[in-house]
Formats: sequence, C-alpha cells, structure tokens
Amino acid sequence: VVQFEPGAIVSDACASYDTLEQLNEAIHPYLHSITQNTDFFSHYRLSLYSKKCPFWDDEDGMCGNRACAVNTLDNEEDIPLVWRAKELGKLEGPTAQHPGRQQQREHPQKPLQGGLGDQVDESCVVEYDDECDERDYCIPDDASATAKGDYVSLVDNPERFTGYAGVGAHQVWEAIYRENCFSKPPKVDESSAQSSLGGASPFGGFNPQQLQAANQLRSVMKDQAFGKTVKSAIAKGADPARLDPVEFDDTCLEKRVFHRVVSGMHASISTHLCWDYMNQTTGKWSPNLACYEQRLHKYPDRISNIYFNYALIMRAVGKIKQHIKDYTFCSEDPEQDKRTKNSVLRLASALPDGPEVFDETVMFRDPDTVVLKEDFRNRFRNVSRIMDCVGCDKCRLWGKIQTNGYGTALKVLFEFDEHDSSKDPPLRRTELVALINTMHRLSHSLTAIKEFRQMVEDRDGIH
Ligand code: FAD
Repeated sequence: VVQFEPGAIVSDACASYDTLEQLNEAIHPYLHSITQNTDFFSHYRLSLYSKKCPFWDDEDGMCGNRACAVNTLDNEEDIPLVWRAKELGKLEGPTAQHPGRQQQREHPQKPLQGGLGDQVDESCVVEYDDECDERDYCIPDDASATAKGDYVSLVDNPERFTGYAGVGAHQVWEAIYRENCFSKPPKVDESSAQSSLGGASPFGGFNPQQLQAANQLRSVMKDQAFGKTVKSAIAKGADPARLDPVEFDDTCLEKRVFHRVVSGMHASISTHLCWDYMNQTTGKWSPNLACYEQRLHKYPDRISNIYFNYALIMRAVGKIKQHIKDYTFCSEDPEQDKRTKNSVLRLASALPDGPEVFDETVMFRDPDTVVLKEDFRNRFRNVSRIMDCVGCDKCRLWGKIQTNGYGTALKVLFEFDEHDSSKDPPLRRTELVALINTMHRLSHSLTAIKEFRQMVEDRDGIH
C-alpha cells in the first residue's frame, strides 16, 4: 500500500498533510463545541421526506433498518427558539422586509441589511429559500419558514453506520460520479454561432462569446493549471521529491477539483461509518479496522481527497471571517447569541489568513473557462438533487448537509469577494450551518484516520 509522506503537500492545495493535521488539532475542540453546544449549529431545517428522486424510481433502494431512521422534531416546543418557524417569521413585516433577490440584483451595492431596519440581519428574517440565486452551487433545500420543513437535532441523529448498502447505495454514488464526466464543448464554426442566435442550432444555449470560449476551452483542456500549482509549491520551498505522490490522469484542474470534492465527501462518509460501526452480532458500536482498511487505507488517493476537502473548506470559512463578525445569530436570547458568535469567531481567528492552505484564484482564471464554471456549478447542483434518491433517511440527512456544506464552500470561494462584500450573494442560515458541520465532519475524519493508522501500526508492530 502506497502511503504519503506527512510532509508532502496535498496536491491542488497549498498545505502539507502535517500542517493540516496540526491545524486540525488546534481547531477540532472549537468545531466540536460549536456543533454540539449551540442551538444555532446543532439543528437543521430541510425537506427530508417531501421530495421525490428526480432521476429514477427509488422505491427498491429504501433502507428499512432502524439505524437508517431520523428522529425529527415534530413538536414546536422541542425546536429551539432560534429555529422555530414562528420566530423566523416574526420579523417579517414592513420594517423588516427581506430585500429579495430582485432588489439585490437591481441595487447590488446596497448592503443587505438596508431594508431590514437597524440590528436586523438576514438570519432574523423569514428566508425565501425557494428563490435560487444563479450563483448557488446547490438547489436550496430548506423548505421556506412558512411551509414548515423538517427540523432535526444533529446531535441526536449522528452520522454513523446504518447498514444502507447494495444496489441502491451504489446507484447513487455512480450517478454522482457520472456528473464528473464533463464533456468537451463541441467544436462550433462561425456560421453555426450566428445561427445559434436564432435558436435554430443545436448549440442554441450559447451566446457568441460563450461559443468562442467553448472553442478555446477545447485547446486548454491539458493539465496546465496543475503544472502551475506544482511549480508554485516548489517556488514556496516545497521539496519536489516530497510532493503528494497521488497520480492524476490528464485532466484540467477544475474537473479534478470536482472529482476530489465528491470523492473526498464519499471517503469522509466511509470514515465515519467505519469509525462508528455497529457489530451486528454483538450489537456494540465501535471502530471497525477492517472496514477502514478495505475502504480507505488501500486507497491513499481517497484519503488525500479528504485532506484536500479540509483545506478547501478551511479557506472558505477563513474567507467569511468578516461576514461572521457582522452576522446576527437571532435566538431572541442576547446571551446565547453572544456565546454562539464568540465560538465561531474563536474558530475563525484560529484559521490561517489568506490562501495559505488553498488558493482558489488558480481556478477559473482564464476568460476561456466561463463555460466550464457554469458547467461545474450545474453539475454540483445535480449532485445536490441526487441526494433525494438516497434510500436511507439518516444517510440522506447527512448527505444533504454535506453537499450543502461543499456547495456553500464553492459559492464562497468562487462568488465572494474578500475585499468588497457589497456584491456577494447572500448566505442562508442553513448554508452557514451546513458549512460548519461539514467542516466538523472532515475534522472528525482526520482524527479518526490518525487513530486508524495507529491501530494498523500497533497491529503490524511498526514503530
Ligand atoms: P461504496 O462506498 O458504496 O462505493 C461504491 C464504489 O465507489 C466502490 O466500489 C468504489 O469503486 C467507489 N468508491 C468508494 N469510495 C470511493 C471514494 N472515496 N472515491 C472514489 N470512488 C470511491 N452508510 C452508512 O452506514 N452510514 C451513512 O451515514 C451513509 N451515508 C451515505 C450517504 C450517501 C449520500 C450515500 C450515497 C450512501 C451512504 N451510505 C451510508 C452508504 C455507504 O456510503 C456505502 O454505499 C455502503 O456502505 C456500501 O459500501 P461499499 O463498500 O459497497 O462501497
């Protein structure tokens, strides 16, 4: 089994495995405390049961195990104040109107709070979740506060082994990986570019600039960006012999990142289920080393993708430091709001500044990649749609949270401007909750993998 050097740089990121592990040790306690001890981050609102799988008939793939079930909070009294529909809707009215997407588009420079009255942040107002911003990487899932969604305590429904497996589960993973098959844009000549304006050509969806970009894209599909990343790592002092040995095939950086995000999410889910595994003979929950060896230890690329995702999410959370400083955690309890905010700020201030662990600016840099970015965003939206095909409630819950978490990270990385937030798209509360919980899941994966490695070494007498 090929294992990577601890000092090697995680390819496509800027930090080494060692650095990410050290950062993880420092921030894991904050993440744990935020996700377990605050009402805001320990609960989630989503459509867990009401959406049908849009791709195939999913009746056959349903999981009947008790471990697959989710306990939703069906009584209003059990839902913390900060999450109650009544509370969320309370501020709706003439003095606290959500500016709405239309107004944001017309007056993007106007601060979001503009129409909300003093001290009223977006998180305090009923959110129109069915309105999708074109810059979103996920299909909004949190049914609007007026049409009550499903409320779930994430602490009471931990992600762990459920027994969901077989054809149903494989079909979902296969569909997700199929989204990674970016097709090369078709070669289009000038005459069809012209006719496409009239909508008659098969490429009617493209405008002439996009057509030109599409044609140029064909010629830059080679792995130039990856080469640049390696060169810049070496320029920063990395030893070329100690770079991440994970081999990649001949693909462009953006497509590779898509694959890494999805595969890293898959590997992280595998880590959690192997760590919190139920021995079906004894009925006891404990780590399952064989499960880890079969699904992860033998595949260093999968482990590398978890580290990659951690670097990516870390950068996204670091990028919204200011946003968090300005955010109002509306629980109607100022003391609780203060505690929640302080916990998140402690986490944010422990993160590296700027693109030290991940540099998103190397992606979608060439003007030619306009089409690719749109394709990337649409494909990720499809991954979020596929989550409605997961036939196990608990897996669907955590699958939805994590795709929303990665979608939010991608939105922050590629659509937010760290130095001028006036045109940033809004962040929904569920996006923020998903982002932090996904970061916590990855942090837990890094800790579990370290322990699993130790178990392998102890067993094999390696010291
Ligand atoms: P699978 O994990 O189903 O993988 C299918 C195939 O994909 C493998 O044969 C391999 O070729 C490839 N593959 C595997 N891992 C990777 C990777 N990281 N990168 C690239 N390719 C890979 N089960 C639970 O017990 N608890 C959960 O919380 C849970 N959540 C889930 C969430 C979702 C969204 C889905 C789709 C499934 C979930 N499952 C969960 C089921 C679990 O992920 C596995 O599908 C199941 O345990 C069967 O595993 P397997 O060994 O057959 O391979």
